[in-house]
Amino acid sequence: MKGHLFIISGCSGVGKGTLLKLFLENHPEIKLSISATTRNPREGEIDGINYFFISKEEFEKAAQNGEFLEWAEFSGNYYGTKKNYIEKTLAKGIDIILEIEVKGANQVKSKMPDAVTIFIMPPSINTLETRLRGRHTEDESAIQLRLKEAEREIEAGKKFDYIVVNDNLETALNNLEKIFNSKAWGKQ
Ligand code: 5GP
Repeated sequence: MKGHLFIISGCSGVGKGTLLKLFLENHPEIKLSISATTRNPREGEIDGINYFFISKEEFEKAAQNGEFLEWAEFSGNYYGTKKNYIEKTLAKGIDIILEIEVKGANQVKSKMPDAVTIFIMPPSINTLETRLRGRHTEDESAIQLRLKEAEREIEAGKKFDYIVVNDNLETALNNLEKIFNSKAWGKQ
């Protein structure tokens, strides 16, 4: 049997990275896709682990060659999922998670309707702004851009198959577990 594809989206600063890290520690059988991006690595990020950090030229070439399952521009940079790895992993019967923004999520869902889309929702825009500022990884203009993107993403996220509100980490993790355990999506 083929693996299942899960797509997890949520605005920048919603805490989806922490949530996913904890979830995947409990689920070593599920793979997390590594995206390609043209943005610069943040401190501590490693090429080939967090992302494949590539140039704009390399990205555009790969896009022209049809190597991406989806790609999108977000906050001034390109991000994309390589098709090859996803197809091979699913063919081996392994479940895989894409942690991508909503435009990419919608592209995948229209190509692969069986993909399960999960949106991690912030309790409020104010909480999001506090978290985004608190992590000190973006400058003011990048924060403003990400907050603008967040409003658009929240609207798009309302159409996802599942919504998990990340108010309390433990509750959010439990709710994510329930979605994966329910297997209701397997019957779609
Ligand atoms: P960050 O720069 O904070 O790592 O990521 C910015 C946004 O890009 C996040 O919403 C993240 O989910 C999204 N993203 C990461 N990889 C991909 C990808 O391969 N495709 C798309 N469409 N979005 C991605």
